[in-house]
Amino acid sequence: MMYGSIEAGGTKFVCAVADESLEIIDRVSFPTTTPEETMELVIQFFKGYQDKLEGIGIGSFGPIDIHRNSPTYGFITSTPKLLWQNFDFVGTMKKHFSLPIAWTTDVNAAAYGEYAFGKGKGLSSVVYYTIGTGVGGGAIQEGRFVEGFSHPEMGHMMVVPHKNDSFTGNCPFHGNCLEGMTAGPAIEKRTGKKGQDISPDDELWDMLAYYIAQCAYNTTLMLSPDVIIFGGGVMKQRHMLKKVHQAFEDLMQSYVKTPDLTNYIVTPELEDNAGTIGCLALAKEAKIHL
Ligand code: ADP
Ligand code: ZN
Repeated sequence: MMYGSIEAGGTKFVCAVADESLEIIDRVSFPTTTPEETMELVIQFFKGYQDKLEGIGIGSFGPIDIHRNSPTYGFITSTPKLLWQNFDFVGTMKKHFSLPIAWTTDVNAAAYGEYAFGKGKGLSSVVYYTIGTGVGGGAIQEGRFVEGFSHPEMGHMMVVPHKNDSFTGNCPFHGNCLEGMTAGPAIEKRTGKKGQDISPDDELWDMLAYYIAQCAYNTTLMLSPDVIIFGGGVMKQRHMLKKVHQAFEDLMQSYVKTPDLTNYIVTPELEDNAGTIGCLALAKEAKIHL
């Protein structure tokens, strides 16, 4: 028995298959181009395992339609990636594979990976953010994604500008929202350099830590989760976590007594595998529930 995973990102797709214990057996990655071209490669990959597959989990860039009784369930909806607007992702997969298909956002999938096998293991309430090309967040409560009319879009929460910061942000919708201030492209627009090429001593990181700490502060006040996990390329700056802890303490002023910050505001255990592992775990769940 095997399970399949599709991590559908705005820049690349990662597809994988794993055995019953979710050990990854095969994995491929290719750039996100047109839906036709990209899905052709996805389908080709899984056709090689068709007889053994028991389910496929998809974590997709969005926004996506997650409502089972909606006529556009399984579609990518109003994405700025025009070619993918109103693309019937789940329907396309169902046309080629008669298997249970789990469908959620890319960041929910990563949250689920950490919940099932990473820093959220054994906890009941887990929030996961990625700070990468974009900023996104997902929350899990007792094994279920927190959602209502749609999935959360926590990456676009508003943040208060740092007193020394004159950058106006680069979110096309909100300017200086969390994504507009902290995502990789915002760093590049602000400095002309990629985050990985900026010295750890640069004041930029204090500003970013201040924004990420505001995110942790808001998350704490709204959800009081057991853990808040920050992943994504920007968090590969290893010094950031400590700065975020400090800024969080300054903001919170001990108003809420959180768990010890070294166990409460953390980076992912599964690192870049959280999304794939999460999709696989959801695929295994889908076999039971769908
Ligand atoms: P994606 O969000 O596309 O899935 P990532 O989470 O790897 O991918 O994020 C990519 C972004 O993170 C890029 O903008 C890149 O410049 C930035 N990035 C990657 N590594 C680092 C690093 N070590 N420090 C700061 N920024 C980084
Ligand atoms: Zn925004």
